[in-house]
Amino acid sequence: MNTDIRTIPKAELHVHIEGTVTPSTARAIAQRNGIEINPDIFTDDGNSYRWNGFIDLVTRVYQEMAHCLRTSSDYELIMYDYLCRCAAEGAIYVEPSGYPGQCLVSGIDYKEMIDGMVRGIDRARADTGIEARFTMTFERHRPGVEAERDADLILSYPHPYIVGLDIAGGEREEDLGAFESVYKRVLKDFGRPLGVRAHVGENIGPVNVWDALNRLPIDRIGHGVRSIEDPALIVELKKRGITLEVCPTSNILAISNYSDYKSHPLRKLYDAGVSICLNSDDPGLFGNSIGMEYRIAKDEFGFTNSELLGLTRNAIRASFAEPSLKESLLGKTGTKKTD
Ligand SMILES: [Zn+2]
Repeated sequence: MNTDIRTIPKAELHVHIEGTVTPSTARAIAQRNGIEINPDIFTDDGNSYRWNGFIDLVTRVYQEMAHCLRTSSDYELIMYDYLCRCAAEGAIYVEPSGYPGQCLVSGIDYKEMIDGMVRGIDRARADTGIEARFTMTFERHRPGVEAERDADLILSYPHPYIVGLDIAGGEREEDLGAFESVYKRVLKDFGRPLGVRAHVGENIGPVNVWDALNRLPIDRIGHGVRSIEDPALIVELKKRGITLEVCPTSNILAISNYSDYKSHPLRKLYDAGVSICLNSDDPGLFGNSIGMEYRIAKDEFGFTNSELLGLTRNAIRASFAEPSLKESLLGKTGTKKTD
């Protein structure tokens, strides 16, 4: 990365912890756990994942890669590895998300999985100065009993680094109703306030962003890029001060609405006055990084360095970290005010 972009403090709010695992880290973890990974998920040179469309990526490739994660130390390693990569690109804060149900796939105790991520954060802070908190994510294709089970897991261990609730997965129109009650239960019983977010407005248009706003006490929207299609929704997002976690490269690679950066609405959203920030989403899978997204915003969308710094401030203000940490992070961007 050129020095110009490297020196801009960065913050990232939308990244899935298992999605940060690079092919080389996946192979190293699989080897130490004595697990075979199907080589078909890698390109011939082994440096990238090979996938054919979003569904193939989030099902076959993701599952094959994630099944090698079997211990608390694996979660410590992937968190530490990712945060160090971000710090090397000038990031000062990252707020990854984890799937509670993944511990059952991996055969790890939920608390052990969380404690692994916590140790990864503490070690990365000690070695690089970067800060992180994380959110827990419901899976759209697992409503009902499985969502209740996820809620039970989240409520079983309210670690102070867990700061928010999310839902992710392939959208269908107005599909959040099945998760309204589990969100409400966790928010009521967690023992302290959590931030609320949802992946919406990525594949499906504004109707799903409205659905999220109407059903849940939403603080942030994961993606939400298709909000640009509805001027009334843009007004509403601005009125409520909701930040959109925009992931340009992910959108182009994973969904069909935008075929290239030229057709992506990043700049239009910014110019419309909506609070946005930049994110990588699944950088291990896609081969991107938070630093790359800042460079792309500059090179492809014409953002100035001062505008990029403004996006970092948007992310910090919209983060679910405790107020004292947000103040300290904002200080590192040259401002002291949280609002
Ligand atoms: Zn995502």
